[in-house]
Amino acid sequence: MVINLGNSLIKDWNGYKGRPFLISGPCSAETEEQVMETARQLAKLNEVSVYRAGIWKPRTRPNSFEGVGSEGLKWLRRVKQETGLLVGTEVANEKHVYEALKYGVDMLWIGARTSVNPFTVQEISDALNGVDVMVLVKNPINPDLELWIGAIERIARAGITRIGAIHRGFSSYEKTLYRNQPNWQLPIELRRRIPDLPIICDPSHISGSRQYLHEISQKAMDLNFDGLMIESHIDPANALSDAAQQLTPNDLKELLSRLIYRNASTSDPKLLDVLGELRQQIDVYDDHLLDLMEQRMKIAETIGQYKKENNITILQSTRWDEIINKVMARGKAKGLSADLIDTIFKAIHQESINHQMKVMNNDAKDHDDKK
Ligand code: PEP
Ligand code: MN
Repeated sequence: MVINLGNSLIKDWNGYKGRPFLISGPCSAETEEQVMETARQLAKLNEVSVYRAGIWKPRTRPNSFEGVGSEGLKWLRRVKQETGLLVGTEVANEKHVYEALKYGVDMLWIGARTSVNPFTVQEISDALNGVDVMVLVKNPINPDLELWIGAIERIARAGITRIGAIHRGFSSYEKTLYRNQPNWQLPIELRRRIPDLPIICDPSHISGSRQYLHEISQKAMDLNFDGLMIESHIDPANALSDAAQQLTPNDLKELLSRLIYRNASTSDPKLLDVLGELRQQIDVYDDHLLDLMEQRMKIAETIGQYKKENNITILQSTRWDEIINKVMARGKAKGLSADLIDTIFKAIHQESINHQMKVMNNDAKDHDDKK
């Protein structure tokens, strides 16, 4: 479907204070005092557009702090009245939507554990029908772009025009540096698929700890994201949820001061000339790569034919092992990352196998036909 984003370009949203569109506040609303004091300190920075606080918290294990519930919405309303900040919270079912709207919440977001579930997203969308509120959709916990887009479409179909996406990273089984894998290619592809959709990065949930917040935020800015959602708390060490990743408002100010904002494009003719020339060279190399790949696959098909005729299996593990070791070593010497070599050669190998399979199966069919 075509998503009607209306005036959803972020600079038309209320509260826009210039790039990046900044959403900040505690992971969870804990007490009225914590909510108010964090908001007062953030308001003073004059960079925050929306004050966030989780009211209902989706926790991995029971017996963790699961949020203060509707009581906290009164505190958010007070934040709005006393600081002028817009306020936002996560909704995970229709009851949350009705409650949040009753207290004048300006921005709702759908959490990662909710956007995986089309039934729940539809329930939320139905509750939002005809309402004028900002809605952000976090990526589902699994790296499934279609599911993410599907959730955005459901919200758009309810008539919401101020829609955005939040990239908060993806769960993985292995222990990795970050709490959630960024898989940057997913938000990049989302931008290609829905170019006008604002995308906000949530470095807090990607990082899982304060130490990586700056590098992830900078990366998001370099990839031309529209905004950031960063958790902040007056006393992070004693936060009831996500203590390791929250910043004091002062530390947030310091992080923001170190961010470099680059231009999304340039109109300088000299620079455009240079870029144009270099891009032409890139296009030539991309064509080479495609030609090489085509030639490689033709050889694979010939090999497939021989294997077929001599009745040997397509997969030859020792040969594959030999190739991967060789290209890994050569790639390293050329300054190419092990990740790149691994991804590219596994994909090329799989493609070769597919081509050989086709040769074998077609032959088998011919054979059957002749019988
Ligand atoms: C949150 O923003 O506090 C939160 C629970 O995030 P996510 O849905 O990304 O885990
Ligand atoms: Mn959190």
